[in-house]
Amino acid sequence: MRAGSGSHRIAAGVGGRRVGSVLVGFAQAGVHPRGYPLLRAPINRVLAGVMQGRMVPATPVRVAAAPAVSRDRGATVQRAAANVIQRAEFFTNEIKSSYSGRNDSGVVFGDSPVLRPARPCASDENARFLRYVSNFFFHYVNQFVKAKDQEVEAMFLSDRLVISANNPTTMKKLFEVMKTEKTLLEFLQTQLPSSVDTRGTQMADRFYDVISRPDPRSEAAQLLQAISFEDIADVVRLIEVTRLKDAITGSAYSEKLILLSGLGIHAEQKLLLALVDANPSRTIDVAIRGKKRPCFGCWLCLTFVKEVLGFANLSYNTKGGKAWVGSVDSLDRLLEKARQAGVSADTIEKWFKQKQASFSTVKTHVSTNRFGQEDAGYDSYSDDDPF
Ligand SMILES: [Zn+2]
Repeated sequence: MRAGSGSHRIAAGVGGRRVGSVLVGFAQAGVHPRGYPLLRAPINRVLAGVMQGRMVPATPVRVAAAPAVSRDRGATVQRAAANVIQRAEFFTNEIKSSYSGRNDSGVVFGDSPVLRPARPCASDENARFLRYVSNFFFHYVNQFVKAKDQEVEAMFLSDRLVISANNPTTMKKLFEVMKTEKTLLEFLQTQLPSSVDTRGTQMADRFYDVISRPDPRSEAAQLLQAISFEDIADVVRLIEVTRLKDAITGSAYSEKLILLSGLGIHAEQKLLLALVDANPSRTIDVAIRGKKRPCFGCWLCLTFVKEVLGFANLSYNTKGGKAWVGSVDSLDRLLEKARQAGVSADTIEKWFKQKQASFSTVKTHVSTNRFGQEDAGYDSYSDDDPF
């Protein structure tokens, strides 16, 4: 199945084509001896750079072995973790107490959400680009999944790009569609349908704009460009969230677009499980962004991974959005990972106590659109604002 076929597909021809106000630089000027298309500027200059090895080589990820947990200590921590899981229910109960009975609008803490207007400020290039990636795939998959997926999220770390969705089977279906194309470039040339809302279309145009630049500042965009010309079967990988060991650190997944399938939990929480399960160096740079801002439960999980599991360079939107019943429950999976990584029960207890004590000050953030109206369907309206 090819979505967005026919008139929505970008014509490959010298000169490219305008999509909105953006000149898409996928203009083919010939065929490279290795078989992939030779493209005219601007994207061909990037390819030339990759071919000559001028692109900065991917930094190998150092895998730190999980500290051994002694039997006695393991049992103590396990008991403490069980208590802590009870404590996680505190947050779920708080959401339930504010829950209106409809699960389609989310819970707002406080009298009203904090509206986040677009703000001009220095942007995190990967944060910005990952929002475009998530938006593109969100609208793309929702053309063919039966039950609309509520979120797609993207994670970039050193030499790989990982994408997940809320629904357990969405990424598998996406993979089936993607592998019918020869190259990632051909897939990316597929335009979103005209039924996509204005904001989604605008962000898709920006996505094309960035990946068509000769030298995008985002490393995630550089990676996507560099693998665009390879056989799609070589550069796109599907992996079940329950079989993650290699996806984050293994060399077989280096310089790949990884689709994370399985588990009916929020998309960000799947990415976090993958990250924590792989147990890389805690100083690794990781950026996670989605189409929407993280809900309260995902915000709590992201904060846990940064503050308790020690991923100091994890970048995410720290201004969490609405709360959903059930979104906190899967925190117990991360607690188990923390236990396996040897995080002390005291540390975990202390963190929960802090979060509970400050719970009354938790705010719900909602983005505004260009008219200043609430727009919970997207992250910040501003391209310069990573929050
Ligand atoms: Zn969430």
